[in-house]
Amino acid sequence: MGCIFCKIIHSEIPSEIVYQDDRVVAFNDSNPQAPTHILICPRKHIATLNELTEDDTQLVGHMIQSGQRLAKQMDLAEGGYRLVFNCNPGAGQTVYHIHLHLLGGRKFSWPPG
Ligand code: AMP
Ligand code: ZN
Repeated sequence: MGCIFCKIIHSEIPSEIVYQDDRVVAFNDSNPQAPTHILICPRKHIATLNELTEDDTQLVGHMIQSGQRLAKQMDLAEGGYRLVFNCNPGAGQTVYHIHLHLLGGRKFSWPPG
């Protein structure tokens, strides 16, 4: 219902999909913060990390595994990459359908901004 990532997952709005399977869809971020910036989304609508349950454990593992595989395909594995979930406004979440950011291709600082 009005969820932009559900619309992308259902091909109701365009996106640059780089990987998909029965559980996740991964597409390029439209406002990239690094040379590689991919969002890995579950097909299941989950608003924030706070709504995850025990039943979602395998799904979240699969999201991370998908990020790792994409990072290897993009040749980021050796140099380094970042996988990030933002939860709620304090962490900068703007789309309320969980997504794992895969960021790579430049140096990242720590602590994050
Ligand atoms: P977050 O701030 O963690 O909720 O991340 C949301 C991300 O979604 C941001 O990096 C946005 O640039 C990205 N985004 C928003 N709308 C779209 C869209 N239609 N296609 C691709 N990425 C999007
Ligand atoms: Zn959604």
